[in-house]
Amino acid sequence: MATGIELSTLGHRVRHHRLGAGLTLDELGARVGVAGSQLSLIENGKREPKLSLLQAIADATETDVSDLISGEPPNRRAALEIELERAQASPVFRRLGIAPVRVTKGISDETIESLLGLHHELQRREREAIATPEEARRANTELRLRMRDRHNYLADIERLAEKQLRAAGHTSGALTHRTVSIMADKLGFELIYAGDLPSSTRSITDLENGRIYLPPASIPGGHGLRSMALQAMAHRLLGHTRPTDYADFLQQRLEINYFAACCLMPETNAVAFLQQAKKDRNLAVEDFRDAFGVTHEAAGMRMTNLVTQHLGIALHFLRVDHNGSLQRVYENDGLPLPMDVTGSVEGQIVCRKFSARSAFSQQNRTTEHYQYTDTPAGTYWCSTQTGTTPDGEFSITVGVPFDDARWFRGRESSARAVSTCPDEACCRRPAADLAHRWDGKAWPSARVHTQMFSPLPRGAFPGVDDSEVYAFLERHAEG
Ligand SMILES: [Zn+2]
Repeated sequence: MATGIELSTLGHRVRHHRLGAGLTLDELGARVGVAGSQLSLIENGKREPKLSLLQAIADATETDVSDLISGEPPNRRAALEIELERAQASPVFRRLGIAPVRVTKGISDETIESLLGLHHELQRREREAIATPEEARRANTELRLRMRDRHNYLADIERLAEKQLRAAGHTSGALTHRTVSIMADKLGFELIYAGDLPSSTRSITDLENGRIYLPPASIPGGHGLRSMALQAMAHRLLGHTRPTDYADFLQQRLEINYFAACCLMPETNAVAFLQQAKKDRNLAVEDFRDAFGVTHEAAGMRMTNLVTQHLGIALHFLRVDHNGSLQRVYENDGLPLPMDVTGSVEGQIVCRKFSARSAFSQQNRTTEHYQYTDTPAGTYWCSTQTGTTPDGEFSITVGVPFDDARWFRGRESSARAVSTCPDEACCRRPAADLAHRWDGKAWPSARVHTQMFSPLPRGAFPGVDDSEVYAFLERHAEG
């Protein structure tokens, strides 16, 4: 019982039980052997009672100590008062220098609700203001570097996933929809497929009725639905609360993605598979993908979690769109990535010579494209697979420094390229003769690039419209 907030809840519970027993402060004080004024301090969360006194109060009001120290507000009024105390104690409010409202019996619930409404709006605007695209990029970069320091590996979530899988009876092979349903069931959730999910959401969880709503039918790529259901469960399993800022939002998103990946490719089995493949000098993203029934992208990303940690190999992962723009990236092998002044790499254009881009021009797209690329940081071996979405083509690349290519299938590739990026002469500046030929005679019209990150939109959850979410839940609550 260390914090003021917990003392505040305790105080409300003591008062609730005192009033329930029909006792005044002095009457209860007389029964438990302290002055009424002392009890008042306790009820107002200003003093921490000794356990012996709590026991006496519990006896006198015919309840249990465990009930008194429960973290739940005893009733709606107390919940409102505690929430207002919290809001008024927040840095956002205190910075304004406005005197907090002292809550007395005379203040109606409606008044407190109105004040809370203002506080919520104040906090929402504060969050919106800080999540500028620049702030968002910075948060993204910090998270990427933090994960790089720990080999993109999160032991706690690995263990949590294995525990949940064991409890649901999963032992090996691809994770079935059935097992995912059992996992949800054990958490008290039913998976429901709904055709009318708001477009700003991937899933919605109804905490009151224990339901996780997911989009219907199959998503291209196969593991989409399992992954979404697992991510929704992960919020609950990892104890997530509403994100306080963009960095918090990113961290949560990373954790739920990580949890889903751990369930689809559990550490023990995945590492055994990868270690055997390394021993056979036959590591390949496509084999790992097929063994666990996931997308090429999911398999490649998962390798970044496990391959450094368990196989001692540094590596990189790139998802690049048809324009060469980086959509998703991880690197701990020193591959020279394009970077803006803030150190952000997302949305930057990778070297035209990289396997991630040269694979687009390959004839045979059914197998991985293997290539050695000399860069200013050394030679890298890369395997790239291309794919298509309604938004256009993309490529998934997993690569390693030259010395580690010997563990991978495709190491015998004769494809070679030389990249001197970030030197613009490498692939960004036109050849001198062409520049001379066309200077002043070409007038391209630029395509406007959509922002990589937009500020937090309306509502408490980034990217989601609360009103749509609540309307959706209203529609489904009956059924
Ligand atoms: Zn280049």
